Amino acid sequence: MARLGSWIESHPEGIYVRPADAWIDPSQPKARAWVTHGHADHARGGHTAVLATSETLAIMETRYGPQSGQPIAYDETIRVGEVDVRFVPAGHVLGSAQIVMEHKGERVVVSGDYKRRPDPTCAPFVPVPCDIFITEATFGLPVFRHPDTGSEIDRLLHRLHADPERCVLVGAYALGKAQRIITELRQRGHHDPIYYHGAVERLCRLYEELGVELGELRPATGVAKDELKGRIVIAPPGALNDRWSRRLPDPVTAMASGWMRIRQRARQRNVELPLIISDHADWDELTTTIRELEPTEVWITHGREEALKHWCMTHQIKACELNLVGYEDEDD
Ligand SMILES: [Zn+2]
Ligand SMILES: [Zn+2]
Repeated sequence: MARLGSWIESHPEGIYVRPADAWIDPSQPKARAWVTHGHADHARGGHTAVLATSETLAIMETRYGPQSGQPIAYDETIRVGEVDVRFVPAGHVLGSAQIVMEHKGERVVVSGDYKRRPDPTCAPFVPVPCDIFITEATFGLPVFRHPDTGSEIDRLLHRLHADPERCVLVGAYALGKAQRIITELRQRGHHDPIYYHGAVERLCRLYEELGVELGELRPATGVAKDELKGRIVIAPPGALNDRWSRRLPDPVTAMASGWMRIRQRARQRNVELPLIISDHADWDELTTTIRELEPTEVWITHGREEALKHWCMTHQIKACELNLVGYEDEDD
């Protein structure tokens, strides 16, 4: 047989699956796109035909308008050209999937973005042993070890209750992180109304339509300052330091991101309460997953691949990096 995975090509604009004539998460409009999840660095508008989970298609329609999409259920296998394709949960955001492909006896799994720890808003990651694992490595350095999510949420609640005259303004990406923070708060017993910035509203509503319960949400805009004292307000990271936040009562600025592990990143955004809550695998999750899947080769995307490449090599696994452009952390 030819080189392992010779039917899968890496191009700057995405991964091309030749025997299916399909692109995975292409950054340019394509005739046939398979999309792992709804974050903007993976899901773009303008494709002729999109194969994705129904949740991902719904997210794309919310963001880009009507899609000529074909929904695929988790674990359903379809044949496209000469490739059997299956989407399995990636545990990243609602509807997120790994793409499992089989061709001529070889199995390749494209992880998309993923994490292994529980997330009340989406189905958990399903490990699929494979010959080639194409993995993200957003946090592919041993320094990245995300703490327990519950303890981070408890720090947030503790801070909220410590000063009833202030509010806590939490910066969280509009797709996935915002809804996860809200559901994690509900699970820790916080049932007060949570206030939101307008930019997260549509996706919160969509999550609710798709069956994720978020409890009582209220718009923060147009509300008297006094009403917001002692409340949690969720806003996209870009709103943390802009004019919008001046309407809030002396906000404690928090941010929920894997990058909050790096103090300098927190300082750059004037974050007083950094919360290390990530929708990506940390170092231990990355290496545990590779151990579990036992691939012959690992291909690495999303930067910071050197350490993981080295780790693979010391574990007798061939590894290389893929230089895809445009994968950035909309969603850390
Ligand atoms: Zn993502
Ligand atoms: Zn990504």
